[in-house]
Amino acid sequence: MLLCSFGTNTSFSVLKKNIMLIVFHFSRHRKPSVDSLQGLWYFLITMYTVNQYLKDTYHTKVYKIAINAGFTCPNRDGTVGTGGCIFCSGEGSGDYAGSPCKSVTDQIEEGKKQVAAKMGGTSGKYIAYFQAFTNTYAPVEKLRELFTEALSHPDVVILSVATRPDCLPEEVLDLLSELNRIKPVWVELGLQTIHETTARYIRRGYDLPVYDRAVAELKKRNLYTIVHVILGLPGETDADMFRTVDYVASSGIRGIKLQLLHVLEGTDLAKDYKKGLFEALSMDRYVYLVTECIKRLPPDVTVHRMTGDGNRRTLIAPLWSLDKKRVLNTLNASLQKAGCL
Ligand code: SF4
Repeated sequence: MLLCSFGTNTSFSVLKKNIMLIVFHFSRHRKPSVDSLQGLWYFLITMYTVNQYLKDTYHTKVYKIAINAGFTCPNRDGTVGTGGCIFCSGEGSGDYAGSPCKSVTDQIEEGKKQVAAKMGGTSGKYIAYFQAFTNTYAPVEKLRELFTEALSHPDVVILSVATRPDCLPEEVLDLLSELNRIKPVWVELGLQTIHETTARYIRRGYDLPVYDRAVAELKKRNLYTIVHVILGLPGETDADMFRTVDYVASSGIRGIKLQLLHVLEGTDLAKDYKKGLFEALSMDRYVYLVTECIKRLPPDVTVHRMTGDGNRRTLIAPLWSLDKKRVLNTLNASLQKAGCL
């Protein structure tokens, strides 16, 4: 038997790029059925948008402000590699983040102004999202200074830190754990795939056991961990992508970001695309893949993203992804048909 209960707000007004966060919170409370129904499970599925989830927690709207704190990345500075991941833009995946020339506080204030301009004034709260490049790749005292500045802002309720699993030494983990006792800290790991052939092709620069260790250490410290997975990486079959999602979902993480592979001008991925070495996903296939991925997620894994925002100025493919409203409406319809909504 499958029972579904919907959150009160499934609106897709969450199109506000990186200042709004899409989270579908699936909380499936399973209990074994009686003997006569052995083998069947009883599901209760509740779906939240992140707005609703955060509103329930903080009793106001919570917006995301992307920060560029001027970090670099070991996959760019020569420590691990020099070219970066094959899909990574020169902005270090922080195309919508603030300016590294400005202080964290100034970037937060600027982000607040942008939210107010879009929303016609706001008195909400904020997630300080350290997004650009590798946000734990600095001496721990520097990190303490930057993260404390963000957390000290009275309107910031969550610190979110995007990083690589190979950039979480003991002292950084302990710092994040310490800060997590002040306000919630989310750690976002860019895994993208579990498949070593693909990982080598995209020049990720670390092996799967490094990810396993990072997740175990974060879990040990009760840090909320979100993992990025890219759908549509060259050479990967549907089954490969599902195996990645299964692996990630069972690794002890709390959230997942499903990201469409964007081909951006100026990247090495773009060179391969222009040579015709692979094709970008069609919208139909992407919608199918996201739906199947979400269907196989276990209880209490939250979907933090279903698409992602390719930089409009540099996006080469797939161009259909620029019509975010259409994509989300199609995803919504597919998820409804699949019984997820
Ligand atoms: S780890 Fe992140 S910032 Fe570094 S090259 Fe890869 S995508 Fe870019």
